Amino acid sequence: MQSILFSDVLKSICSEPLEVLSIDHTGDNFVYIDLSKTNSDLDAVDVSSSEKFHKYIEAYLRTNKADVAYGGYLETRSIYKRSIHFNKQDVATERNIHLGIDLWCQDGTGVLAVLEGIVHSIKNNTNYGDYGPTIILKHHYQDVIFYTLYGHLSIESINTLKVGDSVTQGQCIGYLGTSQVNGDYPPHLHFQVIKDLQGLEGDYPGVCNKKDVDFYALNCPNPNILLKI
Ligand SMILES: [Zn+2]
Repeated sequence: MQSILFSDVLKSICSEPLEVLSIDHTGDNFVYIDLSKTNSDLDAVDVSSSEKFHKYIEAYLRTNKADVAYGGYLETRSIYKRSIHFNKQDVATERNIHLGIDLWCQDGTGVLAVLEGIVHSIKNNTNYGDYGPTIILKHHYQDVIFYTLYGHLSIESINTLKVGDSVTQGQCIGYLGTSQVNGDYPPHLHFQVIKDLQGLEGDYPGVCNKKDVDFYALNCPNPNILLKI
């Protein structure tokens, strides 16, 4: 098993796209968005204000006639500088490389279990800039155990399911939260695939420092291997 990359296991699970939102992917209604520090459009956006950041996302969706803007895997971002949760004013430890995929769309959008599994853990991560309400599912595929993390949900989402509950593939497990509850971001899903949860519950780093990126890239392969957007 050791010699098989986790990303190759994920590739073997399904040849069809897996759904993680209640919005059908018809093609053009999902548009890629660059939120890296190299996107100079962001220089003019005050991302410390979720309201102004939200207006930027809404305008981007409108311009592109899209319902969902997606992207961000291994993107190096400046938007975390606003929070000491990620940035302790020290470049050596600053966490700014994003380890999941983000899907920016309307709050209240349904969030679906990508695969069948059980609810591993549920937590409201309330640091400024953190995930807010979060659900982690545990999956078995052949003899491999892995996890999927769904962050920035609504409060109701974490009061419905219970740890140990079984979920079916495509089951609605929650809804996207507003900036009031989701860590102060425009509404979006942070979706991440994790091989080793490292003993954590209801939480796992969604961004890392550049010195740790090799480890995290192996432990958290690109979620778009499953979503195929
Ligand atoms: Zn994210």
